[in-house]
Amino acid sequence: MLPRSLDARALAALAANPGCRRRALLDGAGVDKAALARALGSPAAYGQSQFALVRGNSFEARVKADGGAELLRLVCERLAPDGPAPEADAVARPDLSAAGPEGRAARTALALREATAAGGWALLDHPMLALEVAGSPAYVEPDAVVVHPDGGWTVVEIKSFPMIDGAADAAKVGAAARQAAVYVLALEAVAGHVAARTGRPARVRDRVLLVCPKDFSNLPAGAAVDVRKQLATTRRQLGRLTRVEEIAAALPPGTTFDLRTTDDGTPTRPPEELAAAVEAVGAAYAPECLAACELAFHCRKRSRQEGSVAALGRGVRGELGGLRTIEEVLAAASGPDGSDAPDDLDDPAVAALRRAAALRAEALAGAAVPAPRDGEPGCR
Ligand code: SF4
Repeated sequence: MLPRSLDARALAALAANPGCRRRALLDGAGVDKAALARALGSPAAYGQSQFALVRGNSFEARVKADGGAELLRLVCERLAPDGPAPEADAVARPDLSAAGPEGRAARTALALREATAAGGWALLDHPMLALEVAGSPAYVEPDAVVVHPDGGWTVVEIKSFPMIDGAADAAKVGAAARQAAVYVLALEAVAGHVAARTGRPARVRDRVLLVCPKDFSNLPAGAAVDVRKQLATTRRQLGRLTRVEEIAAALPPGTTFDLRTTDDGTPTRPPEELAAAVEAVGAAYAPECLAACELAFHCRKRSRQEGSVAALGRGVRGELGGLRTIEEVLAAASGPDGSDAPDDLDDPAVAALRRAAALRAEALAGAAVPAPRDGEPGCR
């Protein structure tokens, strides 16, 4: 099976959980996590449906029709002060085709350099950008990048969720902004080289253009999205990822995630053997994984089996301080009479649990219905 390349969506999700060595290793090694999850017997609910993909592609084609005239109009309208949109023949549309991701990334870098040196408008359709992640190269592909005459570069992200009355679903806009931040980060590395080679300012703009269908139509609407916060977070989180070689070096010898598929793609490797390989790499499960990682159901099951408080969410885990399992939490709440109960009331988490347990006991005692006395009506 060919290794899968990382896309910006996967990188944004990886950056959101930098403590997960399992994901860092599997993504870095290009393992198809959806296929792995299926082979483990915990298929993912995560991912775009075929219908959403088709709808997204058709909307993107519409936005980019007529040489991207509408897209450039939206860039100029939303990302002032560029003035009116340029005439169609004043916009360069370089051919970015080349063999393999490395070739396409090199072709994109050259096109960006030429467009910046020329000092005019250019529209790069699906450029390929390289980014080093945990010591391995990853290739990401924004929907488009617009080069402005002043040497500014704008990332364009085209999504198929609607923008109603000028506003879109905040969670979806947030996810698009995190994805766009990955593109901005990858472009920044190229901009440094281009500025040095051309002597012209090459600057990646930290406001990206989000294009969505307007209201319930198929007409494009644009909005400028400031991704400075997402950019800073992504940069910091990706920098915190442990190098893939380091994680791999700590694995037991012979560990492999090969599904051993037949010609028709059916995995033949026993799920227990695969599960053991997956468990050999530490994970950092949190409920957020359910919306971001194909292995979420598998990791959640394991987390629950271990009684880990991580399955309750990062907020609860943070509140519980050093208590790592549900068993420890219950023991702390039950007090010194419990068998292994930690008796450390200086620990705010233990004190809060003890108080909560006392309040619960009080409430339950108060709620107890007294038994009816002789002669009083009672329940039958
Ligand atoms: S689902 Fe598992 S592998 Fe994926 S990020 Fe969460 S803990 Fe890591």
